[in-house]
Amino acid sequence: MDRRRFLQTSAGGAAVAALWPFGMSRAASGTTDTPDSVAGIPLGVAFDPAPFSLGVASGDPLADAVILWTRLAPSPLAGGGPLPETVEVSWTIALDPDLNIVVRQGTTTAAVRSAHSVHVDVDGLEPATTYYYRFSALGATSRLGRARTAPIGSVDHLRFAFVSCQDFQAGSYAAYRALAGEDLDFVLHLGDYIYEYPADPGAYRSHIGGETTTLDDYRNRYALYKGDPALRDAHAAFTWICTWDDHEVVDNYAGTNPPGAPPSPEFEARRANGYQAWYEHLPVRLPGGAQAGAGSFPIHRRFQLGDLLDLSVLDTRQYRSDQPCGDNTGNCAGSLDPNATMLGADQEAWLLDNLSTSTAAWRGVAQQVMMAQLKLGGLPDRFRLPEALGRLRQAGEGVTVNHDQWDGYAAPRRRLLSHLADNAIPDVVVLTGDIHSHWVADLKVDFDGRRSPPIATEFVGSSITSTGFPKGSNLALKTIVPHTNPHIRFVEGERHGYAIADVTPERWETTFRTVGDITNPTSPVVDLAAFQVMRGRPRAIRVR
Ligand code: FE
Ligand code: CA
Repeated sequence: MDRRRFLQTSAGGAAVAALWPFGMSRAASGTTDTPDSVAGIPLGVAFDPAPFSLGVASGDPLADAVILWTRLAPSPLAGGGPLPETVEVSWTIALDPDLNIVVRQGTTTAAVRSAHSVHVDVDGLEPATTYYYRFSALGATSRLGRARTAPIGSVDHLRFAFVSCQDFQAGSYAAYRALAGEDLDFVLHLGDYIYEYPADPGAYRSHIGGETTTLDDYRNRYALYKGDPALRDAHAAFTWICTWDDHEVVDNYAGTNPPGAPPSPEFEARRANGYQAWYEHLPVRLPGGAQAGAGSFPIHRRFQLGDLLDLSVLDTRQYRSDQPCGDNTGNCAGSLDPNATMLGADQEAWLLDNLSTSTAAWRGVAQQVMMAQLKLGGLPDRFRLPEALGRLRQAGEGVTVNHDQWDGYAAPRRRLLSHLADNAIPDVVVLTGDIHSHWVADLKVDFDGRRSPPIATEFVGSSITSTGFPKGSNLALKTIVPHTNPHIRFVEGERHGYAIADVTPERWETTFRTVGDITNPTSPVVDLAAFQVMRGRPRAIRVR
């Protein structure tokens, strides 16, 4: 049965919330038979029953295929094991939640070299169809998951969420609790799924151990994050499309450059550890699998959602040149370097070709760091700024404040935006994470040219939890940002949550949904603002 019809046959929204997640996670929440349940489990962590302690996930939807994921981990916070070197895992996918109308089933092998994770690429499926799936192994059965394939042909509506930045220590996953009850075609994760930071006993809830560097460190960190039942519920509820940002390895790394240091064999090994653990814990379709290698681990990929949306999912970390200007705030010549690259030559050519050849109504670009120019400064003296923003009180046209975002890579940004303008490529929407705050911006070839027309739109979603601008920044931000950035149409710096994209052939609408109290795991979410872009008119207009 089609998911929409399935939802329609239930009696309204409350019934939908009651239906999903089918009681499985509620039964699992607070009860676990894993050794890690004994003591010291951080706030909000309760695993599913072993060995499926980390739940299930689906990802990378095609019209006829989807990835089904799980990882066997009886001891999730301590390396996963003990388990045999290989374990046979069987899977079933069906049209109904009772798994009576079985469509496909099979077995696969979970092996120690991939942390007993499995990625089953189930094909032969029907487009735009909702499925239900379950794994079993070692005499146990996983929770139920729900997956949805991509549509094909004429599509009149898509609704998906985009999320980023879920620092476990910064707050609860109330956003995921709410998201799991949404009606969505898929979820897009734009990176910072984990943070490498060491344990902070003063935080809302603490990581375990030091800064992550080894493969085991990263694996245990993913397992800790997946210990939050709300995150597992959100994975089980929807098919996700995931990319990474910096914290899956380390804050603000660039290509093979660790922050503040030259490339080294040590960093290449660390990066490979982070990449491998990312793959092992997410439902991603990668031909090379977990051992794709330290040298290159290509994850940029393209998804066709019928004739409505052509989605290019980027990796702005792995191939970029080092941040200019020592990654400091302030205007500097390095940010204009024509040899700088954000995507690397291959990915950049791939993206420009995707944009040129797409015949979909909308071209989506899912990526990590803010593309719109952001200059702060010129704030009149009468405005008081929080200490952390005080350095931005500078006269004139303002200064670029973050060379980790596209502002540090002005030449490749201009190449991309000029490509859209020169080839009259319409209806491009860029979706961004990274900066833990909400932004809406018109993208232009020349951000300083008042007569340079908008040619695309950027929506930056805030974090699930990660800390944004300091408390009290909003008044200053809402005043200072329009002053030096007339192309920026909205900013909100202190709230967290997720964004919903509701897309039709006529218009793209993005709604920012924010959590009332990040310290309350059951906090509801409310609509903060909604913006629309009409086809052929790349100028975001606030509608709510
Ligand atoms: Fe982040
Ligand atoms: Ca980031």
